[in-house]
Amino acid sequence: MLIDLSKLLRGQELKKNIHIEFEKEKFFDGSEYIDFSKPVVITGSFSKSGDVIEFKGQIKTELILNCSRCLERFKHAFDEPLEVSFTSDVKLSDEHIFIDSEEIEFDSIIESCIIFELPFKRLCREDCKGLCPYCGVNLNYVSCNCKQNHNFDLEENEEDNFDPRFAKLKDLFKNN
Ligand SMILES: [Zn+2]
Ligand SMILES: [Zn+2]
Repeated sequence: MLIDLSKLLRGQELKKNIHIEFEKEKFFDGSEYIDFSKPVVITGSFSKSGDVIEFKGQIKTELILNCSRCLERFKHAFDEPLEVSFTSDVKLSDEHIFIDSEEIEFDSIIESCIIFELPFKRLCREDCKGLCPYCGVNLNYVSCNCKQNHNFDLEENEEDNFDPRFAKLKDLFKNN
C-alpha cells in the first residue's frame, strides 16, 4: 500500500488526512504467517513540521492467528493506534523513518505495528485447555484418560513452557 506524500514533502500542504481500506496479503512475522480475515483500515493524518512528517492514526483489521496452546486458527480483532514519523533528511534518520521517495510504502509499517502489538502468547481464548501432552487431542473439545493412565498432573502441563507440537512426536517415538 503506497501513500503519496508529494504535496506534503513539497510544502504544498501541511496536513493530509487519510482513510484507506485495502486487502492485505498474509505476512511472515518471523515465526509464523499472519493472515487477514478483513481488509485493513488505516485512518489518521500526516502533518509536516520542518523536515519531519508525522503520522498519527489507527489501524483496524481482523487477523487469523494460531493458538499457542491448542494450535487452532482463530480470529483476532485488531484495533490499535499508530504513531510514526518520517524524514527525507539523512541527518534525522536516527529518530525517524528515512524516506527517499514521495510515496511511503505502508505495508511494512503495518506489519511492524501488528507484530509489536500482538501478545507473545496468542491464545484462542483465555482459558484454552490446549492439547493433551500424551495423546495430542484438543482438550477444548474432548477429554481423554491419559491423566489417569499416566498418573500425571494435567494442570502442571498447562504451563506455557510445554510445547504441544511435541506431544505427537513423543507418541511416534515412544516405542523406540
Ligand atoms: Zn487454543
Ligand atoms: Zn490424552
